[in-house]
Amino acid sequence: MQDYCTSSALSRRQFLKGLLAWGGLWVGLPKEAAARPIPELACTHRQQPGSGVWTEPVWMVSLADNRYLFPANQAVPHGLPGSLMKLVAATALLEEKLLSPNQALECRGSITLNGQTFHCQHAHGKLTIQEAIGLSCNVFFAQAANTLSIRRFLQYAQLYGLNTPAAQNASFIFPAEFANGHPSQAYALGLNRNLQPNALQLARMAALIARREIRGLHDNTWQVLQQGMRLAASRGTASELQAAARLRIAAKTGTTVHGNTFQSWLVGYFPFDNPRYAFCARAAAGTAKEAAVPLAQRFLLARQWDIQ
Ligand SMILES: [Zn+2]
Repeated sequence: MQDYCTSSALSRRQFLKGLLAWGGLWVGLPKEAAARPIPELACTHRQQPGSGVWTEPVWMVSLADNRYLFPANQAVPHGLPGSLMKLVAATALLEEKLLSPNQALECRGSITLNGQTFHCQHAHGKLTIQEAIGLSCNVFFAQAANTLSIRRFLQYAQLYGLNTPAAQNASFIFPAEFANGHPSQAYALGLNRNLQPNALQLARMAALIARREIRGLHDNTWQVLQQGMRLAASRGTASELQAAARLRIAAKTGTTVHGNTFQSWLVGYFPFDNPRYAFCARAAAGTAKEAAVPLAQRFLLARQWDIQ
């Protein structure tokens, strides 16, 4: 990997500034779960945004030195996150003990709740939450989110930094006020237009999961998230990443309808047993299976990464 940072003194200063800035932002969050987020990039002041060495729409975090790595000539996109928000919903459901890791819910392919019908491509049968992450089961999360308030969901979205910029002030949308409502399905499935994170925030979310970096969350919760993402990349919604098995990727897909077509994301990290990089790939057209997953796979396989 090319190293963008050349000034260690500036880097240190920026690093400390970042830590101080972050410290203030994370006070008073629920359950005293103050995060130790990735400090703001030490070297963003030296690298012009969009001046990276690749052109594919993939944003990365180098976990060894807390640096964001940017593609060349790409504005940072934001949009509906789709099923990426199942990671946030799963965190909230487990931490609030609304669901246990071993509890199974049944997916018969669709379910109608509160007058709204949610679909999966096929019936998944009985699933635990870990399996529901790996297979991205809408019916599972629609049922589970019935017990989760919007307010609670958004508090966990804050813990993942979806309400704060990452690395630069790229556009994103986060609700200005928390509606005090039920249920939270539209948020948990990433389909509420009031929540539209950008690619850097989503790469940071993957980095936080990779390093279990939100203080106060239980080991069991991290275990479920990480195992669910490994499942996705081995025999779930991102199973095409098997072709990149040597990188040992954990991942989560997200697809949303966009006019007559789809847009998609893939977030993840690797290697799952010693994470060195987190990433977020964005496909402006196509489902995750058609577009974001193959894009990320080609991108990751075409380069040498500093992994063990
Ligand atoms: Zn399902």
